[in-house]
Amino acid sequence: PPGAALKVDVAVIGAGQAGLSAAYHLQTLGQRRFVVLDAGSSPGGAWPFRWPGLTLSTVNRIHDLPGLAFSDTLGPDETQVQASVTVPHYFEVYERTFDLPVRRPVRVTRVTSHGERLKVETDRGDFSARGIISATGTWEAPFIPDIPGADRFKGRQLHTRDYRTAGEFTGQHVIVVGGGISAVQLLDEVSRVATTTWVTRREPVFREGPFGDDAGRAAVALVEDRVRRGLPPESVVSVTGLPMTPAIRAMQARGALQRLPMFSEITEIGVRWPDGTEVGADVILWCTGFRSALDHLAPLGLREASGGVQMTGRLATQVARDPRIHLVGYGPSASTIGANRAGRAAATELLTFLGLR
Ligand code: FAD
Repeated sequence: PPGAALKVDVAVIGAGQAGLSAAYHLQTLGQRRFVVLDAGSSPGGAWPFRWPGLTLSTVNRIHDLPGLAFSDTLGPDETQVQASVTVPHYFEVYERTFDLPVRRPVRVTRVTSHGERLKVETDRGDFSARGIISATGTWEAPFIPDIPGADRFKGRQLHTRDYRTAGEFTGQHVIVVGGGISAVQLLDEVSRVATTTWVTRREPVFREGPFGDDAGRAAVALVEDRVRRGLPPESVVSVTGLPMTPAIRAMQARGALQRLPMFSEITEIGVRWPDGTEVGADVILWCTGFRSALDHLAPLGLREASGGVQMTGRLATQVARDPRIHLVGYGPSASTIGANRAGRAAATELLTFLGLR
């Protein structure tokens, strides 16, 4: 009947790296009654929206999804090509190759519990599922700290998410806020055409030498430990430090990496520190990161008092309060390699829990 919820066993929400990995494994495990609901109008997860200056040589590394190598979908010598073009192309080929049941654009607005089933409400009709793998990433939840006076500022404020090219800021004074990789990359671009002030909460730590597998595992283990205790995950950079690269050395050499501590107030014309020092600015660029996009799950009351979601399961993808729900690309799996592994663990554990394998 019109308006009736379409019944499935599993609904995967989001078709980025995490959702596609989960979908691949559901399919490989013989599951035929699942859908992938994706808000994007075309394949690619959050990648189509990355700034144009982010190329395959400036991303950290895009790990292969299971079953098809990224390099097999790239033309010759495409390392300088925009990640916002090549990764969506990879995902498009991937969805087609494995004939994954992705529906788009479908935005999940709310998930509610009705006995054994979960109702997945979307802007294109409802679904009724026995289990959910939520893979909605972070791109839709930009985070900007609450600083007094922010609404008074007469200049322009924007977040990493809204950044396109440095050319927009030519000749202006830009305050770049944030200590992560995105902050440093955008500071690099902007400081070539504008004067800049760089502000971070903590003294940035630059890591010499490659980030080895052991260090990677240790960093992930720290975040995993937090989510197993129900705490909000921290940003990966807070546990890994920033990799020292030739680009960063060049920034140091031209004086673009002079860092100031966080200001305490925003004025009409700039920012002010607790000791009264002021810096005027045309632009405040907030490279202050993202939070997990989990609003659609709010009706389920999964959050602890700390604001985190307590996670369990082999790779900490299962929600402790409701084992029918897995979060992939969340906390310890918020990287392309982590999302891959989490997709597999979530698909396997959820089907086992539902008695479907
Ligand atoms: P996303 O790619 O964000 O996909 C989420 C999908 O869910 C989107 O398609 C979105 O439309 C959809 N969605 C969201 N909400 C809803 C909803 N309510 N209903 C339906 N669909 C919804 N990691 C690396 O390992 N290497 C890198 O080099 C790297 N570079 C990065 C560069 C930048 C600038 C950023 C911000 C992150 C980077 N990361 C990198 C982290 C990496 O992007 C992520 O860990 C990973 O790609 C995220 O995949 P995902 O599937 O979790 O989310």
